[in-house]
Amino acid sequence: MAKRLKFWGWGYEDEVVPPAELRWMESTWAERFGVAGFSVTPTPAAAEIRLPAPRIAPPASLAAICTTDHYERVLHSYSKSFPDIIRVYRRECPSPADVVALPRNERDVVDLLDWCYGANAAVVPFGGGSSVVGGVTPPTGGGHAAVVSMDLRNLGKVLEIDEVSQCARIQAGTFGPSLEAQLKGAGLTLRHFPQSFQCSTLGGWIATRAGGHFATLYTHIDDLVESLRVVTPSGVLETRRLPGSGAGPSPDRMFIGSEGTLGVITEAWMRLRRRPGFRATATVKFGDFYRGTDAVRALAQSGLYPANCRILDAEESQYNGLADGRHSVLVVAFESADHPVEAPLKRALELCRDFGGEADMGAGEASHLEGAAGRWRERFMFLPYFKEHMAARCIFRDAYETAITWDRFKDFHASIREAGLAAIRKATGREGSVSCRFTHVYPDGPAPYLTFHGLSSSPERLMSDYWAVKSAASDAIIAGGGTITHHHAVGREHRPWYDRQRPELFACALRAAKSALDPKWLLNPGLLVDRNPA
Ligand SMILES: Cc1cc2nc3c(=O)[nH]c(=O)nc-3n(C[C@H](O)[C@H](O)[C@H](O)COP(=O)(O)OP(=O)(O)OC[C@H]3O[C@@H](n4cnc5c(N)ncnc54)[C@H](O)[C@@H]3O)c2cc1C
Repeated sequence: MAKRLKFWGWGYEDEVVPPAELRWMESTWAERFGVAGFSVTPTPAAAEIRLPAPRIAPPASLAAICTTDHYERVLHSYSKSFPDIIRVYRRECPSPADVVALPRNERDVVDLLDWCYGANAAVVPFGGGSSVVGGVTPPTGGGHAAVVSMDLRNLGKVLEIDEVSQCARIQAGTFGPSLEAQLKGAGLTLRHFPQSFQCSTLGGWIATRAGGHFATLYTHIDDLVESLRVVTPSGVLETRRLPGSGAGPSPDRMFIGSEGTLGVITEAWMRLRRRPGFRATATVKFGDFYRGTDAVRALAQSGLYPANCRILDAEESQYNGLADGRHSVLVVAFESADHPVEAPLKRALELCRDFGGEADMGAGEASHLEGAAGRWRERFMFLPYFKEHMAARCIFRDAYETAITWDRFKDFHASIREAGLAAIRKATGREGSVSCRFTHVYPDGPAPYLTFHGLSSSPERLMSDYWAVKSAASDAIIAGGGTITHHHAVGREHRPWYDRQRPELFACALRAAKSALDPKWLLNPGLLVDRNPA
């Protein structure tokens, strides 16, 4: 039997945090919040999540590709957002999926949409379900008769590789590891590695404008998409394979970031690159975070375009095992399939020295990866497994991930941090933390990622405390001129702030596009825009 994704947290069912690691982490949390220990809500079994009977049954012609299996319905009724994890631990499922559909090809997608349209059922496209903003959480209300979650996991193949142009035609349900494995034989890579790489899909990345491996230049999946095929209730649409085009507004760009509201992406031609053989990495310590961010600005504006350029403040550096809690640390790396990259790294380190940075540079690639940068990467990929254990202990943890121009960055960062810390204090009656790193940087500004932690006094308080803190800082982001999301997407949970950020005339245009492609408004209702303006 294929491995099953966890419905209650990150990864697959058989992936558990080793007990010693969990004990160590628990002692770190206890020290952080000044408590002796935690009472722990047990991990729920699927049988504890009670679901009403499905409100709809597929026709005989589609029965083989639809299921109402309890585990599948539960898995498809939650995203990986913190509020959804709280609901799982409360054994609550306010908006269950009625049916899970598993198309095997594009014809199935067309037939499923036809059936849902006839039955007035909402359709939620589902890739890996790794959305942290409620993007795959079934809608409530909206006038539909039922909800069908359309899981693309059986569309998992690289169909064609064009080695001359370095591109591949890839099905939307292909998970990250399988996608890279299928390209490896040709010596090519998409090199799009979001932290959720293991459990997310190409279609999900495109539908959410995901941010990946590259800290500069090719930060979002957008730049890697050459063309798309999309099934909409109004018909199938395919864009041309072109390296670039000035022919009007880009049809690709209309679907990139559409979050399942305009159609189901079934495949895409993606731009690839040769696997890098040359790499150079270093870490640089700064006594002051803002001196470090000044150095990052110089780097971002230097034209060097490092593949990795992530600065972590003192708290994040300590948490990630990179430093002692007194220093901020910049992880900087260059890579190429074509030429040695020691020279750009040397120049980057000179720039950092101008701002008081102290470089830690080993003798070669292997020693670097085993060193601080390697430790950071290992921890970075492992941290998501702790989230469910935090929810079980009434600790809330989440992120504000945004972007802002350099001229406003320092005030902006300070205001979000203050709003977050004050909200944690007010909601929980104790101190929490708000730490910061940059995920991506641009010549005109950074993408700061602020992680907040707080401890609620009881499981009953966890949801309202979480939202008090999330809302306070989200308000500060919008007031400060930032974006409510740099790469996690809007989903159900960022929607109120997205509505404040998005120009109203653009909402009208989006509404018209949705009405043309999805006349009954059944594709992921409630995301991005409503049928009737408020
Ligand atoms: C631990 C963790 C780390 C993360 N790290 C990152 C990160 O580094 N960078 C980043 O950008 N995001 C990150 N995310 C968020 C999430 O992984 C991304 O949004 C990802 O792109 C979602 O892919 P998915 O296949 O899981 O899509 P899903 O979560 O299944 O779906 C996301 C949205 O896209 C729609 N959708 C999915 N597939 C299709 C399709 N074929 N056609 C049309 N619509 C579709 C869904 O309806 C939904 O609205 C992280 C999440 C977690 C849990």
